Amino acid sequence: MKHLSNIEECPKCGGRELGRGKQNGYAVMLPINKAMSFGSEVEHIICTSCGYIVESYVKKPGKFKGTMK
Ligand SMILES: [Zn+2]
Repeated sequence: MKHLSNIEECPKCGGRELGRGKQNGYAVMLPINKAMSFGSEVEHIICTSCGYIVESYVKKPGKFKGTMK
């Protein structure tokens, strides 16, 4: 899935140099009540000035359906 963010500056410091990072390996987001699931990588939009995480996405949001029950 391709995310198009319209955020162009950091809401905390006003910095306009945003970067993208991803977490994988042991930092995956796991569905909370699906013990045998592999979870999903997490991708972040990060302010490169102050380090604030502006947005976060899981790569496979469908894995989290039903976890609020
Ligand atoms: Zn910032």
